[in-house]
Amino acid sequence: MPQNVRVRFAPSPTGPLHIGGVRTAFYNYLFAKKHQGQFILRIEDTDQNRLVPQSESYIQEALTWLGITPDESPQKGGEMGPYRQSERKSLYEKYALALVKAGKAYYAFDTPEELEAMRAKFKAIGQAAPQYNAISRMQMKNSLTLSQEEVSQRLKQGQPYVIRMLIDPQITIKAKDTIRGWVQVKGVNLDDKVLLKADGMATYHLANVVDDHFMQITHVIRGEEWLPSLAYHILLYEYFQWEKPEFVHLPLLLNANGKGKLSKRNTQQHDFPILPLDWQDAHTQQTLPGFKQAGYLKEALLNFIALLGWHPSHNQELFTCDELIANFSLSRISKSGACFDIDKAKWFNQ
Ligand code: GLU
Repeated sequence: MPQNVRVRFAPSPTGPLHIGGVRTAFYNYLFAKKHQGQFILRIEDTDQNRLVPQSESYIQEALTWLGITPDESPQKGGEMGPYRQSERKSLYEKYALALVKAGKAYYAFDTPEELEAMRAKFKAIGQAAPQYNAISRMQMKNSLTLSQEEVSQRLKQGQPYVIRMLIDPQITIKAKDTIRGWVQVKGVNLDDKVLLKADGMATYHLANVVDDHFMQITHVIRGEEWLPSLAYHILLYEYFQWEKPEFVHLPLLLNANGKGKLSKRNTQQHDFPILPLDWQDAHTQQTLPGFKQAGYLKEALLNFIALLGWHPSHNQELFTCDELIANFSLSRISKSGACFDIDKAKWFNQ
């Protein structure tokens, strides 16, 4: 490993931490410890509308129970903090504006009604996303279509705007994922994503890339559901001329029969936990069960989740955490989804 390994677990505090998130955190932790690196917890709370207040403390408690201890976090602090995105707003704004200045992003003043009308037009001709792109952007109200004076005036008057990234439909973005190899995406299939929202807060894409850069993250290890974001992130690194981290997208967790993504509904039907700790829903007052309260030992749960997508070079199944650290490697993570078989978890627990 050439440089000092720095990895992060970056959950959004929008509800309880699902077992898939625990696995992501644990793989990051194992990788960091294996290479004497740092494991960072970053709270990605840019979407204030989806914030569920008790989820940040739930995440911290779950990681504490399992001993997946961050070296840097909102609670613990660290040299590259703050570690909550809501406390880093001005940084994102600065970099969004730098992209506008460099001609890689632009102001867009479209109202929700105008956006809706544009989407409806696309729908009428049978076109789904992407919609704010090279075809439509020149018919919308943005700094590419309005005169400079009008843009300055709108900004001076405090008219609401967003900043969008400008994507050239001619380009092909090549991104390397450690597990899948090279992935190619054509610019024409991408949307001019919003980077800075009307409330001045960054979106996930901008905040994630800016933070990974300034927190000196060397490996981005996250769930496969983030693979569609990769092309946007690669482009942002290129726009900023920043060195890219290595990207590792972990396989999906599937239901025990291998059919479909592991779902809350499925687990509720079969009455087994998929959360580390009990979670009480503030609205319904319903309690979703956690592995801890269901009587699972943390050692059993960690052993179980370690093998959901990763396998050692020999057929050992029972591991202590130290043995997992010693054996873990990114090259032994599989591409195909991992079946979540609760009987296996019970077996480890026994
Ligand atoms: N905030 C994202 C999440 O909730 C993080 C994705 C990433 O790791 O880049 O999972």
